[in-house]
Parts: sequence; structure tokens; C-alpha cells
Amino acid sequence: MLQKTSHFMREANLIDGEWIQADSGATIDVINPATSLKIGTVPRSGRAETLRAIEAADAAFRTWRKTSALERSKLLRALHDAIMDNQQPLAELLTTEQGKSLTESKGEIAISAAYVLWFAEEARRTYGQVVPSPWRDRRILVTREPTGVVAAITPWNFPSSMLSRKIGPALAAGCTAVIKPASQTPYSGIAWGVLCEEVGFPKGVVNVVTGSAGEIGDEICANPLVKKITFTGSTEVGKLLIAKAASTVKKVSMELGGNAPFIVFDDADIDRAVEGAIIAKYRNSGQTCVCTNRFFAQEGIYDEFVEKLAAASKGLKVGPGLEEGTQQGPLIDDKAVEKVEELISDAVAKGGKVVTGGRRHALGGSFFEPTVIAGAKPEMRFMKEEIFGPVAPVFRFKTEEEAIALANDTEFGLASYFYTSDLGRTMRVMEGLKYGMVGVNEGLITTVEAPFGGVKESGLGREGGHQGIDDYLDTKYVCIGGLGV
Ligand code: ADP
Repeated sequence: MLQKTSHFMREANLIDGEWIQADSGATIDVINPATSLKIGTVPRSGRAETLRAIEAADAAFRTWRKTSALERSKLLRALHDAIMDNQQPLAELLTTEQGKSLTESKGEIAISAAYVLWFAEEARRTYGQVVPSPWRDRRILVTREPTGVVAAITPWNFPSSMLSRKIGPALAAGCTAVIKPASQTPYSGIAWGVLCEEVGFPKGVVNVVTGSAGEIGDEICANPLVKKITFTGSTEVGKLLIAKAASTVKKVSMELGGNAPFIVFDDADIDRAVEGAIIAKYRNSGQTCVCTNRFFAQEGIYDEFVEKLAAASKGLKVGPGLEEGTQQGPLIDDKAVEKVEELISDAVAKGGKVVTGGRRHALGGSFFEPTVIAGAKPEMRFMKEEIFGPVAPVFRFKTEEEAIALANDTEFGLASYFYTSDLGRTMRVMEGLKYGMVGVNEGLITTVEAPFGGVKESGLGREGGHQGIDDYLDTKYVCIGGLGV
């Protein structure tokens, strides 16, 4: 077992200001994906603990909602500072439970803090309206009020920043929260509880519950005190939550799966495209919902792009995330590796050619070689399925129309990327892509100032940007009459 050096690594749940164990005493083991060794345990909580967390959040909401925007903003600024003051230990904890390189973890902690700061600023700008009245003796006000208790369910690939985009706006708006982190990476979620407590958020405002996803999810969906569910994860679970939340008509925000296309036109700067491709493909070992799933290269530059992409992929340093110089860590677990192997076998059986990689890495465990597959075809599984691993299939296309049609041939619509130097094409393709986000000559576009989110089955709502707080606010129309003329 690893030494528990960080005080953020709390093996308990935070409910109503108390650090507690599951009622049953049951626990879940947390594994370091780089070593396959146990790091520690967290409580295996269920419905009863979740109910108490919701009730605590509801009780806290009654006073928290009355705090001024300035008070909330100041606390969020303090939270931002506390995160940045502890960037190193928080990043080490993240890498230990998640696997990504320490450089990427530090980046994730920094963007987590940046979201908190952004929403600290937005807290003070949730303006209402005074609307010109059609009546002489009445006035029309439109105000915005915090929605209430928010439940945030987050995945293992970005265990810190996915929470920052949810509890940042929730707390800024005056909502209270019940957090359920993924069981594979619970400590980074629990760390938010520790940080919020340390900077002085009142008890019950932020609660953290780990354990059985089904049981916790069922209580969250069925409990009328929860007014909103914000979820990042698979489309499959997202659909389940939307259906279950319908029984109490909750607001829902959903950040679901992606199937990002990355189109390289003949007129593109190929070296720039390869640079963008590496980050858009291999960040977090390919385990992000905005990672490229399908590369489309135009026939004139196809061979050059494949060759350069393969050379750059081969040059990536695979290793444990905490090791100096590591660029690609392990996959989250063996199941993820098996999925990647299945997709590669499917492609090879259908005529795909492995140009580089294609196998488990010599380091063993869940390490996998960065892989490029040439000759990708629409009938291969990764045309429709999320790879969530370091595999880059490259399709060939002839025309702009064909590229747009292929890119849009999916039920997903989260991130998309394309490379061109032609202005007219930039506008046509940007408008033709049915996606929530488009990177033009850029492979990494996430930033706190911009609205992150998808269309189609990739989700509902936006996180970040000035839009990011909207889902945590309810609009109220007030008509004041009898005012005389
Ligand atoms: P991933 O593919 O990233 O593991 P999941 O959708 O399985 O995505 O998980 C994302 C989050 O949703 C995790 O916190 C997981 O525990 C949680 N989750 C999974 N199943 C359910 C469920 N039935 N109800 C509520 N939450 C769930």
C-alpha cells in the first residue's frame, strides 16, 4: 500500500460537515493503475447516506441561498487560491489514482482552479431584467434565483476538473451540492470536500458521497429535494439518469460521449495538423470525451499525414505518470485495454493496417502502445464507437462534402477538429459540422471562458463561459401591480 502522504487523501465521506464511514462499514478499494496496487479504501455508501447528504444540502440551502453574491465570490476566490497553493499534492493524488502524467494532472488542477475563479467572477453578474411593461400601473421584473440542491455525478477521466465545472457554478449561483465521484478515482472528489471545508464553506453546502453508483443514483433521481442533476459520463448512463429524473422533473445537464472527427485537408499545414493530432488523440491516453476518435485525411496528403502521425506517435514516452518525462500513462484498467484490443482486431480483420503500436506496452499492466491504423473504413467499429484509448484510425476522403458527411455520420456531437488554410472552406466546414465545439487548426480548445458541451446524444447544457451558470439558476417573473399611473 502507498504511503498516505497527502491530507487530501481522506478515506471518508463528507455529510453535513462530518467525515463519516458507510453505515455498513463496507468499503471500496482504490487501485493505482500504474502499479495495480491498492492505494486505500473509501466508504461504500448507499441510499441511506445519500439521503442524509441530500437533507443536509437542503437544510444548508435555506441559509446559503441568502448569502450575497459578493460573499460567495470571496469564498470561491479563497477556494481557487487553496487549490493553487496545493497544486502539487493534488496533482500527485490525481496521478496516483487516475494514471495520467503529472504534467497533465498539474494542468487539470490548474484548470479546476481557473473554473472556480471564473465562476467567482460570474457570481456577481447574474443579472435580472426590468422589462418595459404593457400596463401603465404595473412593473415587470425578471429575477434569477439559485435552483436548489444540485447532485453532481462525475467520471474517472477528469476527476477534479469535471467537478470544478459543476460545483463552481452551483456554489456561485447559491446552490448547495451533493457530489458523487467515480469509484475508480474518488480521492480527487473527496479533496474538494476537504478544500471547501478548509476555506470556510458552511457545513452541508458541499457533501461528498462515494459508493454504489446505482443506489446513490437512484436516491438522487427519486428524491424531490434534489432540483438538478449534473452528470459527466457515458451516454448510456446519461440516458438512464434522464429517464429516472423524469419522475420528479429535475433539471439535467449532461456531458456525454463523443466521437470526435479530425479532418485534414490537402491545403492544411501538415506539421501543425500532426502537432494538434497528437494532443487531440493522446491526451490522458486517449481517455477524454473530446479525444479524436476518427481522423479523416484528404487523398493528396493522406500518406504524408499517416507517416508523420505515426512517427510522432511512436516518439511518445509511455510510463508511470509520476515518472519524469512521461507523456502517456496507463489506461484506467484492464477492461479499457481489452476494448482497445477488440477494436484493433476488428479493424485488422476488415483490412486496416497497423502502422505503429497495436499492442500492450512492454511495461505490462494497463499500459498500451500509441497506435496508428491506416486504411480505416466506415464499417470498422471505431466509426461508431468511442475508443477511449491511444488508437488513431485514419480514413481517406476525396471531397469536402464527403468529409463533412462522414464526420456527421454519428449520433454524437461533442468536439470536432479540422485543418485547412482556406478561409472559404473554414466557414463552410465550420457551419457544416453538427457539433457543439469546433477546433479550426487547433487540437486543444477547452478553456473556462468558452461554453463546453455537445449536441445530439453528446448531451444537454453548457459548462464554462457565461452560459455555464445558467443551468444553476431559475428564472422568476414578478409582476407588480396597483402602482397607479
Ligand atoms: P465511464 O465510462 O466514464 O466510466 P460511466 O457513465 O459509467 O462512465 O460513469 C460516470 C459516473 O456515473 C461515475 O461516477 C459512475 O459511478 C456513475 N454511474 C454509473 N452508473 C450509474 C447509475 N446507474 N446511476 C448513477 N450514476 C452512475
